[in-house]
Amino acid sequence: MYNAKAYSAASATSSLAPTAIARRDPTEQDVQIEILFCGICHSDLHHVRNEWGNSIYPMVPGHEIIGRVTKVGSAVSKFKPGDPAAVGCLVDSDGTCPECQADLEQFCPNMTLTFNSPDKHLGGVTYGGYSDSVVVDERFVLRVPSKLDLAGAAPLVCAGITTYSPMRRWGVTKGKKVGVVGLGGLGHMAVKFAHAFGAHVVVFTTSEGKKEDGLRLGADEVVVSRNTDEMQKHAGSFDFILDAVSADHDINAYINLLHRDGNLTLVGAPEKPLAVAAFGLLFGRRSLSGSLIGGIAETQEMLDFCGEHGITSDIEVIKIQDINEAYERMLKSDVKYRFVIDMASLKA
Ligand SMILES: [Zn+2]
Ligand SMILES: [Zn+2]
Repeated sequence: MYNAKAYSAASATSSLAPTAIARRDPTEQDVQIEILFCGICHSDLHHVRNEWGNSIYPMVPGHEIIGRVTKVGSAVSKFKPGDPAAVGCLVDSDGTCPECQADLEQFCPNMTLTFNSPDKHLGGVTYGGYSDSVVVDERFVLRVPSKLDLAGAAPLVCAGITTYSPMRRWGVTKGKKVGVVGLGGLGHMAVKFAHAFGAHVVVFTTSEGKKEDGLRLGADEVVVSRNTDEMQKHAGSFDFILDAVSADHDINAYINLLHRDGNLTLVGAPEKPLAVAAFGLLFGRRSLSGSLIGGIAETQEMLDFCGEHGITSDIEVIKIQDINEAYERMLKSDVKYRFVIDMASLKA
């Protein structure tokens, strides 16, 4: 064991503050990573404030980790010291269940999340990326294409894969019409991917002010969802809609924009159940789905795709000392479009 610097929350009502945490010495299969950047995901804040009711303290959040390999175990073959590397939402799984066999480790009943999950090695819970280093099993460490900006690449391993995976699953390609509901951390990545896949991309937003940005990010059209006439023009025309809104909203307005066999996939998590009108699904045999991050193989595929197409997240880099303020700004959607912590600030 060794000590790592980190920022942790002591309780659901505490601010994040500097601390020291124990990390394991790398085993044969492990990769030790010096963390250079960590993205701030909205779920970090949900966990820190125990809004999903399963938080264990002290908590070190962070699952959009990018860094450099500092040490590898003797059985590690994919990495060597000096390589860039990334770690997303998962750090382990049983490797034997049907989900793992299908490369869908995110649904493994025995998966270990990057933070707030029982730690099989040290006991207690796992600690995430708001730290200067982490030790992770090689199977859960991702290769980062060398030409990607490391800070901008951090959000790819959560926000990126969360939007990439459902679009792959539902066959978003050239010639398809794709809607993206909500232009935030997730939505802006969805626009970039859908555009790169060659789809006709329409962004739905509640704020007129995001029109220009939607177009800049790669949308072909931006629709202000309050404008019923504008919405009506798109009725029955979409192959696929990705709904990235985590606030309460009328999902039926979007289901009605799908054409026959069209699909709407939810990746946001509104607090209260959404009301769904059955007829919207019956007519046109439309479907409603959910999606959760992606498996390790697909996350690697996504990073490689980003390398080929020069895709990173639009970010605002902050010092870790400004983390609590960043949380408040995130609550007001006052960020374009993801905060990323420069972990060099943790050394200060
Ligand atoms: Zn996340
Ligand atoms: Zn499994």
